Amino acid sequence: MLLTITTTHQPATDLGHLLRKNPARLQSFELSFGQAHVFYPEAGEERCTAALLLGVDPVGLVRNRRGPAGEARMLDQYVNDRPYVASSFLSVALAEIFGSAMSGKSKDRPDLVDRAIPLVATITVLPCRGGEDFLRRLFEPLGYAVQLVAHPLDEQFPDWGTSPYFTVTLEGSLPLRVLLAHLYVLVPVLDNEKHYWVGDEEVEKLLRHGDGWLAAHPERDAITRRYLKHRRDLVDDALLRLTDENDPDPDLSEQLHAREEAQIEERLSLNEQRLGAVVDALRGPGAKRVLDLGCGEGKLVRALLQEKCFEEIAAMDVSHRSLEIAAERLHLDRLPPMQKDRVRLLHGSLMYRDQRLAGYDAAAVVEVIEHLDPPRRAAFERVLFEFARPGTVVITTPNAEFNVQWEALPAGKFRHKDHRFEWTRAEFQSWATALAQRFGYAVRFAPVGPEDELVGSPTQMGIFTRSLG
Ligand code: SAH
Repeated sequence: MLLTITTTHQPATDLGHLLRKNPARLQSFELSFGQAHVFYPEAGEERCTAALLLGVDPVGLVRNRRGPAGEARMLDQYVNDRPYVASSFLSVALAEIFGSAMSGKSKDRPDLVDRAIPLVATITVLPCRGGEDFLRRLFEPLGYAVQLVAHPLDEQFPDWGTSPYFTVTLEGSLPLRVLLAHLYVLVPVLDNEKHYWVGDEEVEKLLRHGDGWLAAHPERDAITRRYLKHRRDLVDDALLRLTDENDPDPDLSEQLHAREEAQIEERLSLNEQRLGAVVDALRGPGAKRVLDLGCGEGKLVRALLQEKCFEEIAAMDVSHRSLEIAAERLHLDRLPPMQKDRVRLLHGSLMYRDQRLAGYDAAAVVEVIEHLDPPRRAAFERVLFEFARPGTVVITTPNAEFNVQWEALPAGKFRHKDHRFEWTRAEFQSWATALAQRFGYAVRFAPVGPEDELVGSPTQMGIFTRSLG
């Protein structure tokens, strides 16, 4: 993937000062998803061109994902257009490599930062979902003269028609940092794809890079929707704030704050929804004596204590400190004996066969398996399904599809830094189905939390029922 930026501003080598990259040197950068190189094919007084060559390593991306890869996603992970086209990887590279230029810092030419200078940007391959017309509608209102070369899907088979790929040249007179901001936002918008999970901070990025041009752009709504990957809540927020900029209105900011609060509550309630779903799944088969394995700080134990049907609750964790916190939070020392006798906190590891776990009606393993190293998971499987062997097992784990489309960036790679892996629905289900079969259980699956049409729900749950002996 190649992006070039040319100026005929005099002296043209000022481009190097603005980008803060010396025209005389080739510079290479290691990025989490590949390599980038910055060099100047020409650097004269009259004309200077900076080039950013980006190599995305799709095999490395897959390798970087720890844990088994789902077969369904294998092929498109290895074989795809990402190494060859401008995409959200380009945006990340721009921000990392030209970060100071984008934020308008120039040690040697501060006066040039906000000056319109003649610029020509060429992107060798830009995927444009939405066709030439959409591409023009994005760039022309920003003052660019747009030149396009459309590429056929396959030169040998003209009947197959055109591809979504264009070579694009944008010519305009504007400050360099504004050009970079346009590219940062609009390249992933044209591609209609992002390699990472889009969360609240994406709204901030959009507003920051869209400052001064997005609010008044005729395609503002489409840009916002695509940039935020059609996430309704985020899009509504961003549009509200963009409108706000245009037309300050106290009611709108009131609305915005209410929405922010609702979002926080929504996040809180995922935890509660998960506990509720697990409690229901344990109650369904009529379990009386239950295990909470990897109980952490005891949130599930507290919920279970509130349900009279659970007569005995044994909660185990490998972390002594977590058990201490659990004991404190549950006020175990102050509970009336009737309540206190229902709970037992056990220090132990799920990696080792443990007599104390035998003979229970049900076990919950909530957000724990992703903390276990894959090579050691087999031990856990036998400890639980072969030796402890409760009638019902409820396992929850994050759904990787919900937060990660392309696991590449260190930021937001997994939801938690202790996670050894995160599974897609297909990966979780294939693991759980094989496990159930091996140990004589039946398994069914349920989503937990708001369900997205494409990527599913944030948490996935498997409910195993012992069917043999
Ligand atoms: N179930 C809790 C905690 C989830 S965090 C909740 O939903 O809030 C994962 C927990 O698994 C941590 O408390 C960690 O100490 C525990 N854990 C990790 N490896 C373990 C092992 N081998 N045996 C038992 N617990 C383990």
